[in-house]
Order: sequence, then C-alpha cells, then structure tokens
Amino acid sequence: MSFFEAYTPEFSRFVLGNAPVKRLATGFDWVEGPVWFGDAECLYFSDIPNNQIMRLMMDGTVSVYRDPSNFANGHTRDLQGRLISCEHGTRRVTRTEHDGTITVLADQFEGKRLNSPNDVVVKSDGSIWFSDPHYGIMTNYEGYKSEQELPCNVYRIDAVTGALTAVVTDMACPNGLAFSPDEATLYVADTGAMFDKDAQRHIRRYTVNGSEVTDGAHFHTISHGASDGLRLDTDGNIWSSAADGVHCIAPDGALMGKILVPELVSNVCFGGRGKHRLFITATTSVYSIALNREGL
Ligand code: MG
Repeated sequence: MSFFEAYTPEFSRFVLGNAPVKRLATGFDWVEGPVWFGDAECLYFSDIPNNQIMRLMMDGTVSVYRDPSNFANGHTRDLQGRLISCEHGTRRVTRTEHDGTITVLADQFEGKRLNSPNDVVVKSDGSIWFSDPHYGIMTNYEGYKSEQELPCNVYRIDAVTGALTAVVTDMACPNGLAFSPDEATLYVADTGAMFDKDAQRHIRRYTVNGSEVTDGAHFHTISHGASDGLRLDTDGNIWSSAADGVHCIAPDGALMGKILVPELVSNVCFGGRGKHRLFITATTSVYSIALNREGL
C-alpha cells in the first residue's frame, strides 16, 4: 500500500517511494509537542493526559523525561537550545535551563491568568510566540477544569524585556503556529472545529513586521479534521497535522499531497540527521518518515 497521496508533481519528488511511515513508539493516550534535539539525537514529546514528557532515543528506547509535566503540550527550543514548553496544568510557558531548573516566561496577561498555552515557536530575534486556546482548562483530561479569564490569543514574549503582548486576537482557538523562512509571514491554525463542526478549521497567514502582526487572511482550509500543529520545510511548504495524516500545503495555499497515518495526527516536527525526517505525533503513537525535504 502507498503511504502517500500526491496531488502535484512536486510532491512526488518530496516523498521517497520506499520510505515507510514507521511507528517508533506507542501505548500513549494523546501525544503532542514533538521537538528534536539533534545534539542528543532524541525526540521529546508530550503525553498530555498522562502528565508526562517522554524522550525517544533513535535506538527506539523510550523513557520518561518529566513527570509530572504539568500537562505540558507544545515544545520548541530557543536560540540557546533550551527547551521551551507550554503547560496546561500551570497555565504557563516555561524554559528549562541547561542545569535543569525551570524558569517561568509567561503565566498571565494584564493581571489575568493565561488559558492553557498550547504551541510555541521562537523567532530569530529570540522572541517567543505561543497560542493560548482554552482546551487545557475545559476538562480535567488534559489539565485542570477552570474558569477562562482571557480570550484565546496568540502572544509574543519579547526577547529582551520579557514583556508579553497579544499579537493575534481575532481567532476562535489559535493552535499550531510557525513562521515562513523569511519570517515575514506567521501561519496560525484555528482548531475551533474540534468541538463544533461549523466552526473554523483553517490556517490563516499574518504579515509580520518586527513585533507587529497584521492582515490575517485565510490561507487554507484543512479537508479532513483540523490543523493542530504545523511546521515548514526550507522551501516554505507547510506540513500540517490532519485527521487522515499530514497534509503538505504549498506557500500559495494549494494542497500538494498527503502522508497517510493510521491515527489522528496532532503535530509534526522535522529532525534526524540532515533534518530530513518528519516526526509525527498521532494519538497513541509516534511515527516518522524520511522525506526528500529538509525542515526549517
Ligand atoms: Mg496543539
């Protein structure tokens, strides 16, 4: 069986005919937030309902990295290689220092508690951008059921002052986010549709000018499910989670092809030697596939 569906000739060159979609680890409840540590040759990811951050070595060994994780969700690395994490349970964004201590980067805005930071990305100026939908406080499954104090925004943490500003305030439930290669565009996925079939399940593109974000325009509507997490390759193609796998979307918004995955996909990240391997978190399992592409 084929693991791919190609809708454009380019996509047929992105995939390798004999490279499998490989299940690397399984037995979790809802995996999310994959982040590649090339220096340690391992993948960290969250198992949100089980309140753990896991570490997957490339020999297949899986171990618990942090327990409890405060219901951690999305992760990334900053310019110094430190782990940046979104935590539902503590409603905050943290940085794990090289010595293992944890620094809180953001937990409130204008005196109100954040909802449940979900996904995070770092810009080349060191600023940290994260989404704050309310999924982690809706029930006790992926956090602690609590009152929502703020709308679901995207925020920016200034690299120098640490000041928090709301940069995207017009989405239902902003979730995955990523910059284009030139950082002139910020892609933000809206997953409002997870709980309402008539709600949004699109990705918007915003124009970025330094710390300013304007002109949120519709970019792409996911055909199956919603885009929970997304990453870009070096040519600016968007690799987004969807209900039936990973969708590859061209910079003009056209669906180029799909990698089919047998479980509902939550998120992706590029890694491996040469950054040509796509790691895929999907419900109970972590998958990967080698591509003829490099991650940004
Ligand atoms: Mg997410």
